[in-house]
Amino acid sequence: MRLEREVLEKNDRLAERGRGWFAGRGVFALNLMGSPGAGKTALIERTIREAGGRPEVVVIEGDQETSRDAERVRAAGGRVVQINTGAGCHLDAAMVLSALPGLDPPPGSLLVIENVGNLVCPALFDLGEGARAVVCSVAEGDDKPLKYPHMFRRADAIVLSKVDLLPYVPFDRALFFARAREVNPRARLLEVSATRGDGVGAWLSWLREALPGRVSPP
Ligand code: MG
Ligand code: ZN
Repeated sequence: MRLEREVLEKNDRLAERGRGWFAGRGVFALNLMGSPGAGKTALIERTIREAGGRPEVVVIEGDQETSRDAERVRAAGGRVVQINTGAGCHLDAAMVLSALPGLDPPPGSLLVIENVGNLVCPALFDLGEGARAVVCSVAEGDDKPLKYPHMFRRADAIVLSKVDLLPYVPFDRALFFARAREVNPRARLLEVSATRGDGVGAWLSWLREALPGRVSPP
C-alpha cells in the first residue's frame, strides 16, 4: 500500500508538470478511457474526420503491444505517437511527458490520449489532462457504472458507444444513464455510433466547449 501511494504521488507531480506544459502551449488534453473494444479508436478516427481541422486533433495511443491503433489514426489523418506499455495496464504521466517532444502538439490543438483498454487502474493515474472521458459500449452491459464506479465517478463525459447495435443486444439505455448519473451527477452524458455517425456532432460540441479559446465549428 505504501509503495502504491509513493507511485501515485510521483505520478501526480509529473502530471502537474504536464498540465503546466499544456497550459503554457494552449493545448487541451483529453484522457480517453474504456474497456478494450469499447470503440475508443473508432471514436478518435471519426472525431478527426468530422473536426475538419477545427481543432487539429493529435493523438497519443496507449496499448500493451502493436502500433495498430496508431496506424488507424494516421490513416484518418491524425498525427500520432504510439506508446507500448508491455505488461503495464495503464498510461502514466511520465509516459505522456516523454511522448510530447516527438508529437509537438500545436497551440490550439486537441490532444487525445487513448489510454490502455481497462476500466480499473487508468482512473487512478492523472495524466495532466484537462478532461476525462470514459467510453462504454452497448455490448458491455448497462451495469458497468455500478461495477467500476471509480472510473465513471471521475469522468467529465460518459460516452455510450455503438448505439447502432442497440436493437441486437440486451441493453437498457435509460437504466445505463440512470446508473451513470447515480455514480456521477456532473458528467456530460453522450451517446455515439462512430460507424454510423449518430451523436458525433454533440461529442464534438462538448470537446469544442472544453477547449480554451472555444473553437467554433467550420
Ligand atoms: Mg484502441
Ligand atoms: Zn494499470
